[in-house]
Amino acid sequence: MKIKKIGVRFILILSVALFFCVNPIQSKELVLQEMSWIDVQEYLKSNDMVIIPLGSTEQHGPHMPLGTDYYEAFGMSKMISRKTGVIVAPVLFAGYSEYHSGFPGTLSLKPETMVQVLYETAELLIKYGFRKFMFFNYHGGNSIVQQSVIHRINHTTEAAAIAIGLGGSMQKSGGGEFFDWHAGKGETSIMLYLKPELVKMELAKKPEIKFTKKVEKLYQLAKKSPDLKNVASLYLGVPVETQKGGASHELSNNGIWSFSDVTSASKDMGKQKVSKMVDAAAKFIEAWKKAD
Ligand SMILES: [Zn+2]
Repeated sequence: MKIKKIGVRFILILSVALFFCVNPIQSKELVLQEMSWIDVQEYLKSNDMVIIPLGSTEQHGPHMPLGTDYYEAFGMSKMISRKTGVIVAPVLFAGYSEYHSGFPGTLSLKPETMVQVLYETAELLIKYGFRKFMFFNYHGGNSIVQQSVIHRINHTTEAAAIAIGLGGSMQKSGGGEFFDWHAGKGETSIMLYLKPELVKMELAKKPEIKFTKKVEKLYQLAKKSPDLKNVASLYLGVPVETQKGGASHELSNNGIWSFSDVTSASKDMGKQKVSKMVDAAAKFIEAWKKAD
């Protein structure tokens, strides 16, 4: 009887062990800061890819944390890591956010400073054997930084670099509501999905948006000549020193840049947006892996 019991137990343990061998669960993301050098050495034997998230620490309205863009870029990078097994290596918490500095707490680095820091980081990673760099940016102000560092890596090192978040060719843009740019319905939805404990919906209020006469006229004319919308955007989200009237606090009384109803943001909408971006990036990574 006893032997029979031990036998049953043994078979049970064996089958559980077998299940996990056959179905390895890639549930944990790989974050460089959480790994040892031994882990990285092991990883590099079979993979030379790395994801670097780019976000910001800047005001995101009265209802969301300053780190919103950072949590978005890092959060989505971790989800991509879980799907693909690629290391995520956060380098910076801050981004280029000068035009938000009318609201306290916003941090900002000059684009050239960021490019230098990211490039020097890449140089070291290349020394260890990383060859494929993917930047997951989720802050519009960093676009120029992302383009510059990618160009510098591609043109001065043996590594290849590409964008997989904002600005990535695999990400289909559009589909959002008109002028829902910052801390509005779309972005609040994403945070309700990724970091709900940091969102205070009771403080989410419709902003008073004030465009300059010039921007208003450009939007009017853009109804006939759509490209003028791009000209209007040159006068928005620029530092107060430019005297264009488009700094964050000149544009919006509470830091939200949106005409949409921010109180209608939802976790479901956020999940949809995030899944779309994460899936597109993960699909691209699997395709790139096959190229070797
Ligand atoms: Zn943001």
